[in-house]
Amino acid sequence: NDTFGHAAGDKLLKSVAERLRSFEASDVQLARLAGDEFAVLATGRSARDLHAIEALAHGIVEALASPFTIEGIRLTVSVSIGIAIAPQDGCQEIMRRADLALYRMKSEGRNGYRFYEAEMDERIEARRALTADLRGALDRDEFILYFQPIVAAQECRVRGFEALLRWKHPVRGFVSPGEFIPLAEETGVIIPLGEWILREACRIAAGWPGDVRIAVNLSPRQFRHSDLTQLVRSALRTSGLAAARLELEVTESVFLEATPAINATLSKLREMGVRLSLDDFGTGYSSLSYLRRIAFDKIKIDQSFVRDLPQERSAAAIVNAIIDMATSLDMTITAEGVETDAQRVCLLEQGCHEFQGYLFSKPLPAEQAAALARS
Ligand code: C2E
Ligand code: CA
Ligand code: CA
Ligand code: CA
Repeated sequence: NDTFGHAAGDKLLKSVAERLRSFEASDVQLARLAGDEFAVLATGRSARDLHAIEALAHGIVEALASPFTIEGIRLTVSVSIGIAIAPQDGCQEIMRRADLALYRMKSEGRNGYRFYEAEMDERIEARRALTADLRGALDRDEFILYFQPIVAAQECRVRGFEALLRWKHPVRGFVSPGEFIPLAEETGVIIPLGEWILREACRIAAGWPGDVRIAVNLSPRQFRHSDLTQLVRSALRTSGLAAARLELEVTESVFLEATPAINATLSKLREMGVRLSLDDFGTGYSSLSYLRRIAFDKIKIDQSFVRDLPQERSAAAIVNAIIDMATSLDMTITAEGVETDAQRVCLLEQGCHEFQGYLFSKPLPAEQAAALARS
């Protein structure tokens, strides 16, 4: 729809429906559900004869594999099919379960079919339980911030720390942010949680010597559903931290919805004297246009590139290109995930300004970070 307009999108879906119609038979019924979703109801096949069911699914994928020509433009579509069988997968729940299988198929890369398995429901249940725990965790003081040093490349002196969130779950122990941050995003818990993170990070950093910086991660949702500038202003005022000591890290995913409001928020934050970092650079949506619209102070090279240095040529070439570009835009360049001295030397030679990684230090509890900041 974005590229060809609504009418063309509609024509494409009609052509898809047309091809699907060739599967219609006395025992195969078709329905268009909503948008680009279709339902196929096949009866009379025995659940023991999975081959017959697979053959139908396979046939549909094949039938839609060849390109469509819409208004003179060749288009290919990918097909994801989820399959649930009655009565073994339940009768009431057959559509919901086919849907679960469909979403699993989509997340596994599309263009194929997937049978429903009980494990899919178990995973949903586990997520639901974790979400319920997450909602109460803030009130129960189960979150804690760790701080990982960011060092100046030349003299290896600590310039600042990145605040990294940890969740001490009463039963499960430490839960990784990679697991619960996406969940907190989806459920909206990130709004109160993000506020806590920012206030806590500023409070702790205000106790460090005057030139040591604190970097705080922001989630895309914090831009859309809260008055971020107001929050940042309040966190700075309450803690007494100078704006210039606060760095806010955002990933490219913030620009997925490139609304003027997001640009305005980022500009306002910069005007307040807060520094902006572009996190995980190179892994995102590779549209460089936002670098022209928003003046970032810093770019963080993602650890996936650093990991393959110095041996892998493609990683070295990408890092080289990022550093060249960032240098010409006057940005500070930080490399993340530096684990070996060979990586450090390679990045230093290429012109990187700051390092962060296990070679220097793992994320530390607040007291240890404070001691390091003062040393
Ligand atoms: P990130 O912002 O890219 O953070 C860097 C991650 O790399 C951290 O993982 C850090 O512990 C890890 N790391 C640092 N040095 C090394 C190294 O040398 N080798 C390797 N293999 N890893 C290293 P962590 O703490 O598990 O955080 C994962 C992600 O969760 C973060 O990625 C960030 O996206 C998110 N996250 C963490 N804390 C927060 C937070 O307070 N707010 C938000 N919105 N997201 C957070
Ligand atoms: Ca869809
Ligand atoms: Ca980060
Ligand atoms: Ca990062």
